[in-house]
Amino acid sequence: MNERDSEAVAALLRARGYRLVPDEDECDILLLNTCSIRDLAEQKALGKAGHLQARKRRQPRFILGILGCMAQNRGAALLDQLPDVDLIVGTQKFHQVPGYLDNLRAAREAGVPLGATIVDTAAEAGSQNEIRDHVLAERPVTAFVSIQQGCNMDCTFCIVPKVRGDERSRPMDAIVAESRALAERGVREITLLGQIVTSYGRRDYAHTGGRTPFVQLLERLHEIDGLARLRFTSPHPRGFKHDLVEAYGRLPKLGDYVHLPLQSGSNRILRAMNRPYTRERYLEIVDALRRVRPEMHFSTDIIVGFPGETEEDFAQTRELFATVNYDMAYIFKYSVRSGTAAAAMAGQVPEEVKEERNQILLRLLEQNSRRRNQALVGTVQEVLIEGPDRKGLRFLGRTRGNRTVHFAADEKLIGTLAPVRIERATTAVLYGELVPAGVES
Ligand code: SF4
Repeated sequence: MNERDSEAVAALLRARGYRLVPDEDECDILLLNTCSIRDLAEQKALGKAGHLQARKRRQPRFILGILGCMAQNRGAALLDQLPDVDLIVGTQKFHQVPGYLDNLRAAREAGVPLGATIVDTAAEAGSQNEIRDHVLAERPVTAFVSIQQGCNMDCTFCIVPKVRGDERSRPMDAIVAESRALAERGVREITLLGQIVTSYGRRDYAHTGGRTPFVQLLERLHEIDGLARLRFTSPHPRGFKHDLVEAYGRLPKLGDYVHLPLQSGSNRILRAMNRPYTRERYLEIVDALRRVRPEMHFSTDIIVGFPGETEEDFAQTRELFATVNYDMAYIFKYSVRSGTAAAAMAGQVPEEVKEERNQILLRLLEQNSRRRNQALVGTVQEVLIEGPDRKGLRFLGRTRGNRTVHFAADEKLIGTLAPVRIERATTAVLYGELVPAGVES
């Protein structure tokens, strides 16, 4: 989401005549978009901003701004550590950045001292509608589309409701129009973004024919010519009711991939986290999705060392983790976020215990991913070709199950769906060969 927000700000700045430069040493203005999800993310951003502040002292005309979640979380208090920052802009004010920069530059050009830092972290009605402009590559294949912002779930570990505010959805027509325009510019795959995408539009649109507004949106996007794949993140398990599971059966552009955040495999911990599902319900969703799509690949989010998590609770997480057979997982050690309910809970787990549990799940994930990838060796996968890989030696694309594949190809195939025979696999990557047209798999 931060990538998408940054892109939207960059697009607005470009439209205003600003130029994006590839190297931060070349810029006159640097905007640091920040994350608050864990303490480590904030510490990294503070370290980076501190470093940039030193540059600002050497080059007084250099403009430094802090945007996003940490700006929202800390507001003007950031100035205690970063007194030379020019701009602090919260999560509902990204679209105001060009105006603020114009003012700062006008003051600078008039020789007026820049003066006090601009701090804007207020809520703004309709701000979710402003994340809509794109900076596309020369041959864009994939794009993110923001569909909603904020979350009303109040998971006890999570700072998102504090920094992103209440759930606010964009109008369905605007999302469809943006997606259609992207498809016309060559985009083949769209990933819908939101803090809780499955809650999309629940206050704005009625259920029709037993289908949630989110499923209605998927249906409309599915009809767009040119789009080959639709993905979304992040959903909530409670959003996987019958209508969404059934949608996988009839909307082939939804790939064979679901990110399904688990957080914990212990019902006791799920209750303490204020996550409104059980391990049994979670497994039911996984089974239902695999019934509709036997090839379904799953990824998840897990927190280890939540306050009060015992060995028994962790054993349940480990057991469920192995049962689901994830292809990918984002495993986090619980990080205290001030202002959340869990921060004040008894039974904080020692750091070394969190680390040990983290390592156990990482090892399990490595084994699972390798086994799942190796099972694909010898098969032919439909791959959406995205472009050259980082080294420029091969091309890369992703399978319907969201696994990355490297292979030799021709530039003119970028943006096409092509059959690739998988020849070898590592934990994270597949290597293969294009199957020439007319050759049977
Ligand atoms: S549903 Fe997700 S974003 Fe919302 S509070 Fe829970 S973890 Fe945070």
